[in-house]
Amino acid sequence: MSSPSLILFFEKLKHEFPVGFFTTEPSDLEVYGRDWTKVHQPNPSAVCFPSSTDEVSRLLRLCSDHLIAVVPSGGRTGLAGGAVAANGEVVVSLTKMRTIGSLDQLALTLRVEAGVVTEAVHEFCSPMGLTWPIDFASKGSSTVGGNIATNAGGVKVIRYGLTRNWVLGLTVVLMSGEVLRLNGSLEKNNTGVDLRQLFIGTEGVFGIITECILKLSPLPGGSEVFLFALNGLPSVFRLFEAVRKTGFLVNAFE
Ligand SMILES: Cc1cc2nc3c(=O)[nH]c(=O)nc-3n(C[C@H](O)[C@H](O)[C@H](O)COP(=O)(O)OP(=O)(O)OC[C@H]3O[C@@H](n4cnc5c(N)ncnc54)[C@H](O)[C@@H]3O)c2cc1C
Repeated sequence: MSSPSLILFFEKLKHEFPVGFFTTEPSDLEVYGRDWTKVHQPNPSAVCFPSSTDEVSRLLRLCSDHLIAVVPSGGRTGLAGGAVAANGEVVVSLTKMRTIGSLDQLALTLRVEAGVVTEAVHEFCSPMGLTWPIDFASKGSSTVGGNIATNAGGVKVIRYGLTRNWVLGLTVVLMSGEVLRLNGSLEKNNTGVDLRQLFIGTEGVFGIITECILKLSPLPGGSEVFLFALNGLPSVFRLFEAVRKTGFLVNAFE
């Protein structure tokens, strides 16, 4: 905490960003330094709360200049320790980046900031008969950025596939502070290398996702819930095979 570079880093953090931009309160470090795995001891240097892509960019550039590692933080519902900061990193929490932008009814797309909670997307789209079909028990806390960074599956994966299939455009910030805007809202784009895919499922290793254009799907019509008590995995496979032969569409399973 006391190296000259770190002292300078905190001086710049204080002077170049708005009041309330970061915290070093022990209770905040404890909360934002861990995820739901809970087995790791959190030990970040600070937690920052940028409210725009520009602030993320300036922050990452500053961290790079001072050789400070960062941990992107969404809803911290991950169960693999990805959002844990145990070694003096700076946590970059996107909780102030929760704007839900325009829904394009023609293209079926929705523009959101990466800190938006997954369930908030569902609630926003549902009155228009639409959904973003990424769904699991942590949806009330997880964020769109975290869903994309983990390429989350969820209970509807068998019908809709992974999160990767439901992301059209991304804005990402590299550690250098450079901002990349990838693909926009174009569905049919087969030109060149699809750099979006580098940032989907790679848990922030290559950069921080700040804005996303999500692809939406019509809400399914009526559905039925069946509960089966099964004896082990082979029975699960037989059940799936039988259900698929009936022509039922399996919407979700747990
Ligand atoms: C009850 C429960 C049920 C769950 N069910 C499922 C399930 O069915 N399927 C499934 O796949 N997962 C499931 N999960 C795991 C978890 O909810 C998902 O992985 C979710 O997508 C994580 O989102 P988050 O915002 O909480 O991310 P976090 O936990 O905050 O972060 C996860 C990783 O992504 C990185 N990250 C976060 N935000 C960004 C960003 N903006 N840019 C770059 N990197 C970022 C973090 O550094 C970390 O490495 C479940 C978890 C719980 C607690």
